Amino acid sequence: DRAVLEVRDVRVEFPTRRGTLVATDGVSFDIAPGEILGMVGESGAGKSLTGMAIIGLLDPPGRLAAGEIRLEGTRIDDLPPRKRQLIRGRKIGAIFQDPLTSLHPLFTVGAQLTETICFHLGVSAKEGRMRALTLLKEVGIPAADERVDHYPHQFSGGMRQRVVIALALAANPCLVVADEPTTALDVSIQAQITALLKRLCREHGTAVLLVTHDMGVIAETADRVAVMYAGRIVEIGPVLDIIRNPRHPYTRGLMRSIPGLRQRAERLSQIEGAMPRLHAMPDGCAFHPRCPDAGPRCGIARPDLAPVSGATTSAACWLHQGGVSHAAGR
Ligand code: SF4
Ligand code: MG
Repeated sequence: DRAVLEVRDVRVEFPTRRGTLVATDGVSFDIAPGEILGMVGESGAGKSLTGMAIIGLLDPPGRLAAGEIRLEGTRIDDLPPRKRQLIRGRKIGAIFQDPLTSLHPLFTVGAQLTETICFHLGVSAKEGRMRALTLLKEVGIPAADERVDHYPHQFSGGMRQRVVIALALAANPCLVVADEPTTALDVSIQAQITALLKRLCREHGTAVLLVTHDMGVIAETADRVAVMYAGRIVEIGPVLDIIRNPRHPYTRGLMRSIPGLRQRAERLSQIEGAMPRLHAMPDGCAFHPRCPDAGPRCGIARPDLAPVSGATTSAACWLHQGGVSHAAGR
């Protein structure tokens, strides 16, 4: 199957008075139909920016400075804003952390769904309303026939996020970008929402980019995972392989921070130190100031993402590319 989404060498920059900040660089990945790619990392790692670059909603002065984004084989990153906006509603659905950012407070959820459906699918108001009802039932809104005429504030947080999922799927998009879709919800609701998202995308063959800081959410939901650090993907591969055998020292640290993922209860640990700031990126591997495995080579040369020999994953780490000492591979 051809990938629904192809992201190639994407660089997002922010021009500032003191020079250009490179927020993400060399970001490349594909997502297949019905596949969920989780993107994980600390806040500021560039996950949300990557999502926004794909949706076409980077906040100026942030801009896509290099790379290509293709949807169903067609380049979309260089389209004029109006065409981009059409694609956003019709081909790409978006789900954000706060459901209220996606919903208008003064219109009923039925009116909002119907409008989106009629605009993008070109059906009559009557058909639109019927599809709105079907969608609300599909996302598990009880008494949908009644609730369709309620306003967003009349729904609980979890129910509102279900409505947003219905809205994101309204035009039957080929891609959904979900940025921290459960972070604002009660823990008891989170698993229901991720399970719903997973089921719907499987059923509709929708590709999903799931952005989250929570490796637990990724473990439950994603097929593959891309780990981001300081604006780059440092490890990518099937989620089970990465959980069982993380190769990049940063990913290993992330795994240790999840309770219950490891068979024996390890102490919940945090990775010491902080991610470097954009205007103070260290030379070499950006993780080297925090890395327990760093060697002399790590402070000088930056490793590219490359397949790990004998594994299904790729990692950007000298440990897997000839060693961390100067002599190795230089
Ligand atoms: Fe650590 Fe070196 Fe690998 Fe970077 S390249 S993650 S510093 S071992
Ligand atoms: Mg974010």
